[in-house]
Amino acid sequence: MMLLSVEGLTIDAGGRRPILHDVSLAVGAGEIVGLVGESGSGKSTIARSVLRLLPQRARASGRVLVEGDDVLTMSARQLRGLRASRVAMIYQDPRSSLNPVRRIGDFLTERLVHTLGRPKGAARATALELLTAVGLRDPELRLRQYPHELSGGMLQRVVIAAALAAGPSLLLADEATSALDVTTQAETLALLRRVQAERGLGMLFITHDLHLAAAFCDRVHVLYAGTVVESRPAKELFADPRHPYTAGLLACTPQLGDPRPIRPIPGRPPSLDDAFTGCPFTPRCPHATDPCADRRPEPLPVDGGTAACHLLEV
Ligand code: SF4
Ligand code: MG
Repeated sequence: MMLLSVEGLTIDAGGRRPILHDVSLAVGAGEIVGLVGESGSGKSTIARSVLRLLPQRARASGRVLVEGDDVLTMSARQLRGLRASRVAMIYQDPRSSLNPVRRIGDFLTERLVHTLGRPKGAARATALELLTAVGLRDPELRLRQYPHELSGGMLQRVVIAAALAAGPSLLLADEATSALDVTTQAETLALLRRVQAERGLGMLFITHDLHLAAAFCDRVHVLYAGTVVESRPAKELFADPRHPYTAGLLACTPQLGDPRPIRPIPGRPPSLDDAFTGCPFTPRCPHATDPCADRRPEPLPVDGGTAACHLLEV
């Protein structure tokens, strides 16, 4: 059984187009799966739907299975259990998960005692173990400190420690390293990979950076306007992108030391007020032809995965 299996997920929030359209993906144990796209492509919505953290008026169809249980039809009690211990989310800004006027130690012990029901007496020792496990130096001192006394990278380690406390099987990392400087980003990625491998966790890794996803993930789904346009093993995707949007993304974010000039994809991604019947990429696509604006391309098999583009039909 897959840890996470999203099947035909469509989410409508009252706009002229759905936020997500017929999204399917799966994450196995010990697997890192990337979600890549520009802001507004729906990648955070996919992560939030795994915890059923959706806008009030959103209507969802399809299935979001965590270890076989459909999150979209869970009772309130099952949902609390899911959020408390089975799935952990790590956001871009660790400060959004921490209370600025509470010490790191209080944050961790409160989570251990109240959310997870661990015995109070052992909570401090467990908090120390957790901080040590995520490679924070001087864990004793950290427990006594307030969030503003720690750097962004150290705080992200605290948040990762809190996420691991419950022994989740699935981690959702939403731009978890995007706000960090390059060195800290590399260290945090190494930590995420280490804990993921040690514990055999599945991870959904969300980023706007296709190069980062290609380097960090096993498989990558590229999203555009709420649809998966290409879905491939990371190596294949990077070496030979088959969807024009993927190719555009790779070309416009050159790697360090790449001498080619940056060529941003002209235009902007559609908003929720832009309705379309054909391929959502049509207005920006250098290869757009007759059927593109009228008929939505279906995902077609390509080397190792799928891509949804009319060019692949012949
Ligand atoms: Fe471009 Fe048409 Fe392919 Fe869409 S379907 S990516 S518009 S060529
Ligand atoms: Mg986002």
